[in-house]
Amino acid sequence: MAALRKLTLLGKSSLSNINRCFKNQIRLSSHFPIDDNLYGLSDEQKQLRETVFQFAQKELAPYADEIDKTNSFPQIKDFWKKCGELGLHGITAPVEYGGLELGYLEHCLVMEELSRASGSIALSYGAHSNLCLNQIVRNGSEEQRQKYLPDLIAGKTIGALAMSEPNAGSDVVSMKLRADNKGDYYVLNGSKFWITNGPDADVLVKLDKLGMRGSNTSELIFEDCKVPVSQVLGSVGGGVYVLMSGLDVERGAGSAGTLGTVHPVHRTCRMIQAKLANMYVTLNANRSYVYNVARALDRGNISPNDCAGVILYAAEAATQMALDAIQILGGNGYINDYPTGRFLRDAKLYEIGAGTSEVRRLVIARAINAYYK
Ligand SMILES: Cc1cc2nc3c(=O)[nH]c(=O)nc-3n(C[C@H](O)[C@H](O)[C@H](O)COP(=O)(O)OP(=O)(O)OC[C@H]3O[C@@H](n4cnc5c(N)ncnc54)[C@H](O)[C@@H]3O)c2cc1C
Repeated sequence: MAALRKLTLLGKSSLSNINRCFKNQIRLSSHFPIDDNLYGLSDEQKQLRETVFQFAQKELAPYADEIDKTNSFPQIKDFWKKCGELGLHGITAPVEYGGLELGYLEHCLVMEELSRASGSIALSYGAHSNLCLNQIVRNGSEEQRQKYLPDLIAGKTIGALAMSEPNAGSDVVSMKLRADNKGDYYVLNGSKFWITNGPDADVLVKLDKLGMRGSNTSELIFEDCKVPVSQVLGSVGGGVYVLMSGLDVERGAGSAGTLGTVHPVHRTCRMIQAKLANMYVTLNANRSYVYNVARALDRGNISPNDCAGVILYAAEAATQMALDAIQILGGNGYINDYPTGRFLRDAKLYEIGAGTSEVRRLVIARAINAYYK
């Protein structure tokens, strides 16, 4: 209740301020409205969407093309703090650490609205708020929570989760990074690869990517890196559980990014109208599946099949919708004066990150086969 009160206060004050300040600057016409009644959202959830929409369209959308072209977002630290002031980072974190203590559905709404402004910065937000921050909420000791959560929630620090390695992506349990126990600390040697937000954590190597440009990805190299035993997340030897259960949540809640990454585009010719109708129906079907999985997560029902299933379905549909958006615009869709190329490159990531489409199909098929054994 306290959290909801806080959100209502946040929503009311932020919303009226934002509406007053930015009314004339937002091109609402470029965004097809979402009928939240269809998805049974509460008034608070609708208000949260509206607040984040206004914020993201003002603070992020105007930079999206430049972020893509330059593969950088120099204002990231300021933007992170503004997200912190709105409470977006700590959406699922307990109030006592500065969080809003809301659910994964609210997390999905934020992810969706940030993605509508910039798919890549929304991806960075997902790595920070879900992969890093929410993992500490779920698995951290009291000391670890007090040490890390307040600054992550305020947006003073930027978080990442380093799981993948050069030869351990899909087969992540074959990771080779060593942690040698030296009493009250561990010594880490090895490397991690593809780490979202890695360069923002003051590491210099940065990858030049096809899409999600500006969401910084890097290799992290550990050479005799000392980590106190007190910083082990979860139990010693229990890392696979921490990572795999986190992967379910990442797939379930992260799939919301697909909802905003691709925007329907407008055209009136008859053949094209069929494509538009298909995109509309696909997006609504995706949204229903995403929100239902998020609601299930909020009830504590973690279904690995459906976490894998929702991101599998929504990611492939997002890529197809981006291709359709290019087709609808014809030659214009193919040139970089229009954002459709960016939509395609950004959407494709969701078929790879958090386990590829092939791996998701394996997870689902294995569960179906196990049922009939
Ligand atoms: C932009 C970006 C951001 C990322 N951010 C993070 C992050 O923050 N933290 C993190 O830990 N990781 C991150 N990743 C890593 C991501 O999770 C891996 O890229 C992904 O799991 C795939 O692993 P891989 O790249 O090694 O591909 P591989 O595992 O080498 O796969 C190559 C191909 O083989 C297929 N394949 C592999 N195994 C099988 C199988 N058993 N059956 C059928 N097909 C198979 C795959 O589907 C794929 O098509 C990120 C990746 C990208 C691109």
